Amino acid sequence: MSERTYLAPTPNPETEPFWTAAAQGKFLIKRCRECKDVHYYPRALCPFCLGETDWEESRGEGVVYSFTITRRSPTGPYSLGYVTLAEGPRIYTNFVDCDLEKLHIGAKVKVVFKATDGAGPPLPLFTLA
Ligand SMILES: [Zn+2]
Repeated sequence: MSERTYLAPTPNPETEPFWTAAAQGKFLIKRCRECKDVHYYPRALCPFCLGETDWEESRGEGVVYSFTITRRSPTGPYSLGYVTLAEGPRIYTNFVDCDLEKLHIGAKVKVVFKATDGAGPPLPLFTLA
């Protein structure tokens, strides 16, 4: 299986803190000042009540909500799916650095940062915990 390469993300003023933290191995989510709910992907305004939001570090832990495995690909088998974070938000992601046959709904996973091409920040993806 060849090593997959990932396109570097392009930070903008709204996402800059997220990518700066990712480069330090921290996975940030946002919490609403009004309704106190957390969400992902990070947004300046709460997607539930349009309140102002603050950055917060996630534990980077969660469980597999759903997933699919693509077995025939030029870069080898890969898996996409959803993770429900310990803090609540559900994230669409790739599962990497693990035996894909061991993935199952409810499996414990944790964030792992994968280097991207060029000088961009790393991507937060998930692996079996
Ligand atoms: Zn809110």
